[in-house]
Amino acid sequence: MDRSRHPVPDRVFNFSPGPAVLPLEVMVQAQEELLALPGVGSSILEISHRSPAFDRILEETLESLRRLLSVGSDHEIIFLQGGASLQFSMVPMNLLRGSGSAADYVQTGTWGITGAKEARREGSVHVAWDGASTNFDRLPPAGAIKLSADPAYVHITSNETIQGVQWKQLPDVGNAPLVSDCSSDFLSRPIDVARHGLIYACAQKNAGIAGVTTVIIRKDMLERSRDDLPTMLDYRTHVKNGSRSNTPPVFAVYILGLVCRWLEKTVGGLAAMDRHNVAKAKLLYDVLDGSQGFYAGHAQPECRSDMNVTFRLPSEALEKQFVAGAVERGLVDLKGHRSVGGIRASIYNAMPVEGVESLRDYMIDFQKTRPA
Ligand SMILES: *Cc1c(COP(=O)(O)O)cnc(C)c1O
Repeated sequence: MDRSRHPVPDRVFNFSPGPAVLPLEVMVQAQEELLALPGVGSSILEISHRSPAFDRILEETLESLRRLLSVGSDHEIIFLQGGASLQFSMVPMNLLRGSGSAADYVQTGTWGITGAKEARREGSVHVAWDGASTNFDRLPPAGAIKLSADPAYVHITSNETIQGVQWKQLPDVGNAPLVSDCSSDFLSRPIDVARHGLIYACAQKNAGIAGVTTVIIRKDMLERSRDDLPTMLDYRTHVKNGSRSNTPPVFAVYILGLVCRWLEKTVGGLAAMDRHNVAKAKLLYDVLDGSQGFYAGHAQPECRSDMNVTFRLPSEALEKQFVAGAVERGLVDLKGHRSVGGIRASIYNAMPVEGVESLRDYMIDFQKTRPA
């Protein structure tokens, strides 16, 4: 196996869709500080979530997120557990229940559909657009989203992790609050937070490790939650208690904080991160486009994800050989999601350009020398 291009010789290039590759600097710092946080003398894993040391970590992480995403004073940021999947329920519990309106869902892929399914347990759901007829290979064209009369909110999935389609511009939803599931492109590029009623994102794709979900909510949205909600499922509880109404996932918050610091200090912010990500994705899309159909991209070119590059080879047998040959070169976890098949290369923030270049070179070689 040729790992000469990898910065750490016994690490592979890991294209996992999530949990996913982390910045090396972040892991090295976590390793160095694991036994004793500087100035504390105990591990982050051992100290109280109400200690001044953890207070500082949580507050600095919030401030860093506010700077990175330009979150204004109209929005609160909270850290929750239960993954993005719990937000599929919490969003309608808090924003739809008792509203008398429908919640509008734009179904661009697996995650958008799953969100809508959970919302139906809480109230009326209107499917404002559905990509099923073209197998979720695109986003709604201009004017295709049909909103209900007075939606409680309009839900989109910023990046469909499984199909590999990503919004490049936010849709116009009039005065309705826009809710975005940003789980798989959170912190990969700037977000226009001011245009959102609510944003949620689990951390384990781009922003850290499993266990913490970030919710950014416009303050007036909080007035919609009803008093019959279970305490821990009510956004107001977490805002009121500064994300510490019970024990938060301390290690996951700490890692999110390190990732934020890496984005600010090493990368230089989200616009710079976005430029890197677009350039990395282009390396692979150029191979697709130049392969005369050997590599057939799933997403329509104008909706291609910079995070998850999805494509098929001429046969399943070739796809199997492609995945096996990649492992020999230290390129792992390239198999597509079982629901769509094919290949998926997840190239989140922390995937180094060397990893993408290695994959690109392998793709070119494989097409040239493919077994008959
Ligand atoms: C991974 C993912 C989820 C599910 O996240 P969990 O934290 O596993 O619940 C939801 N939405 C999107 C877009 C995702 O990529």
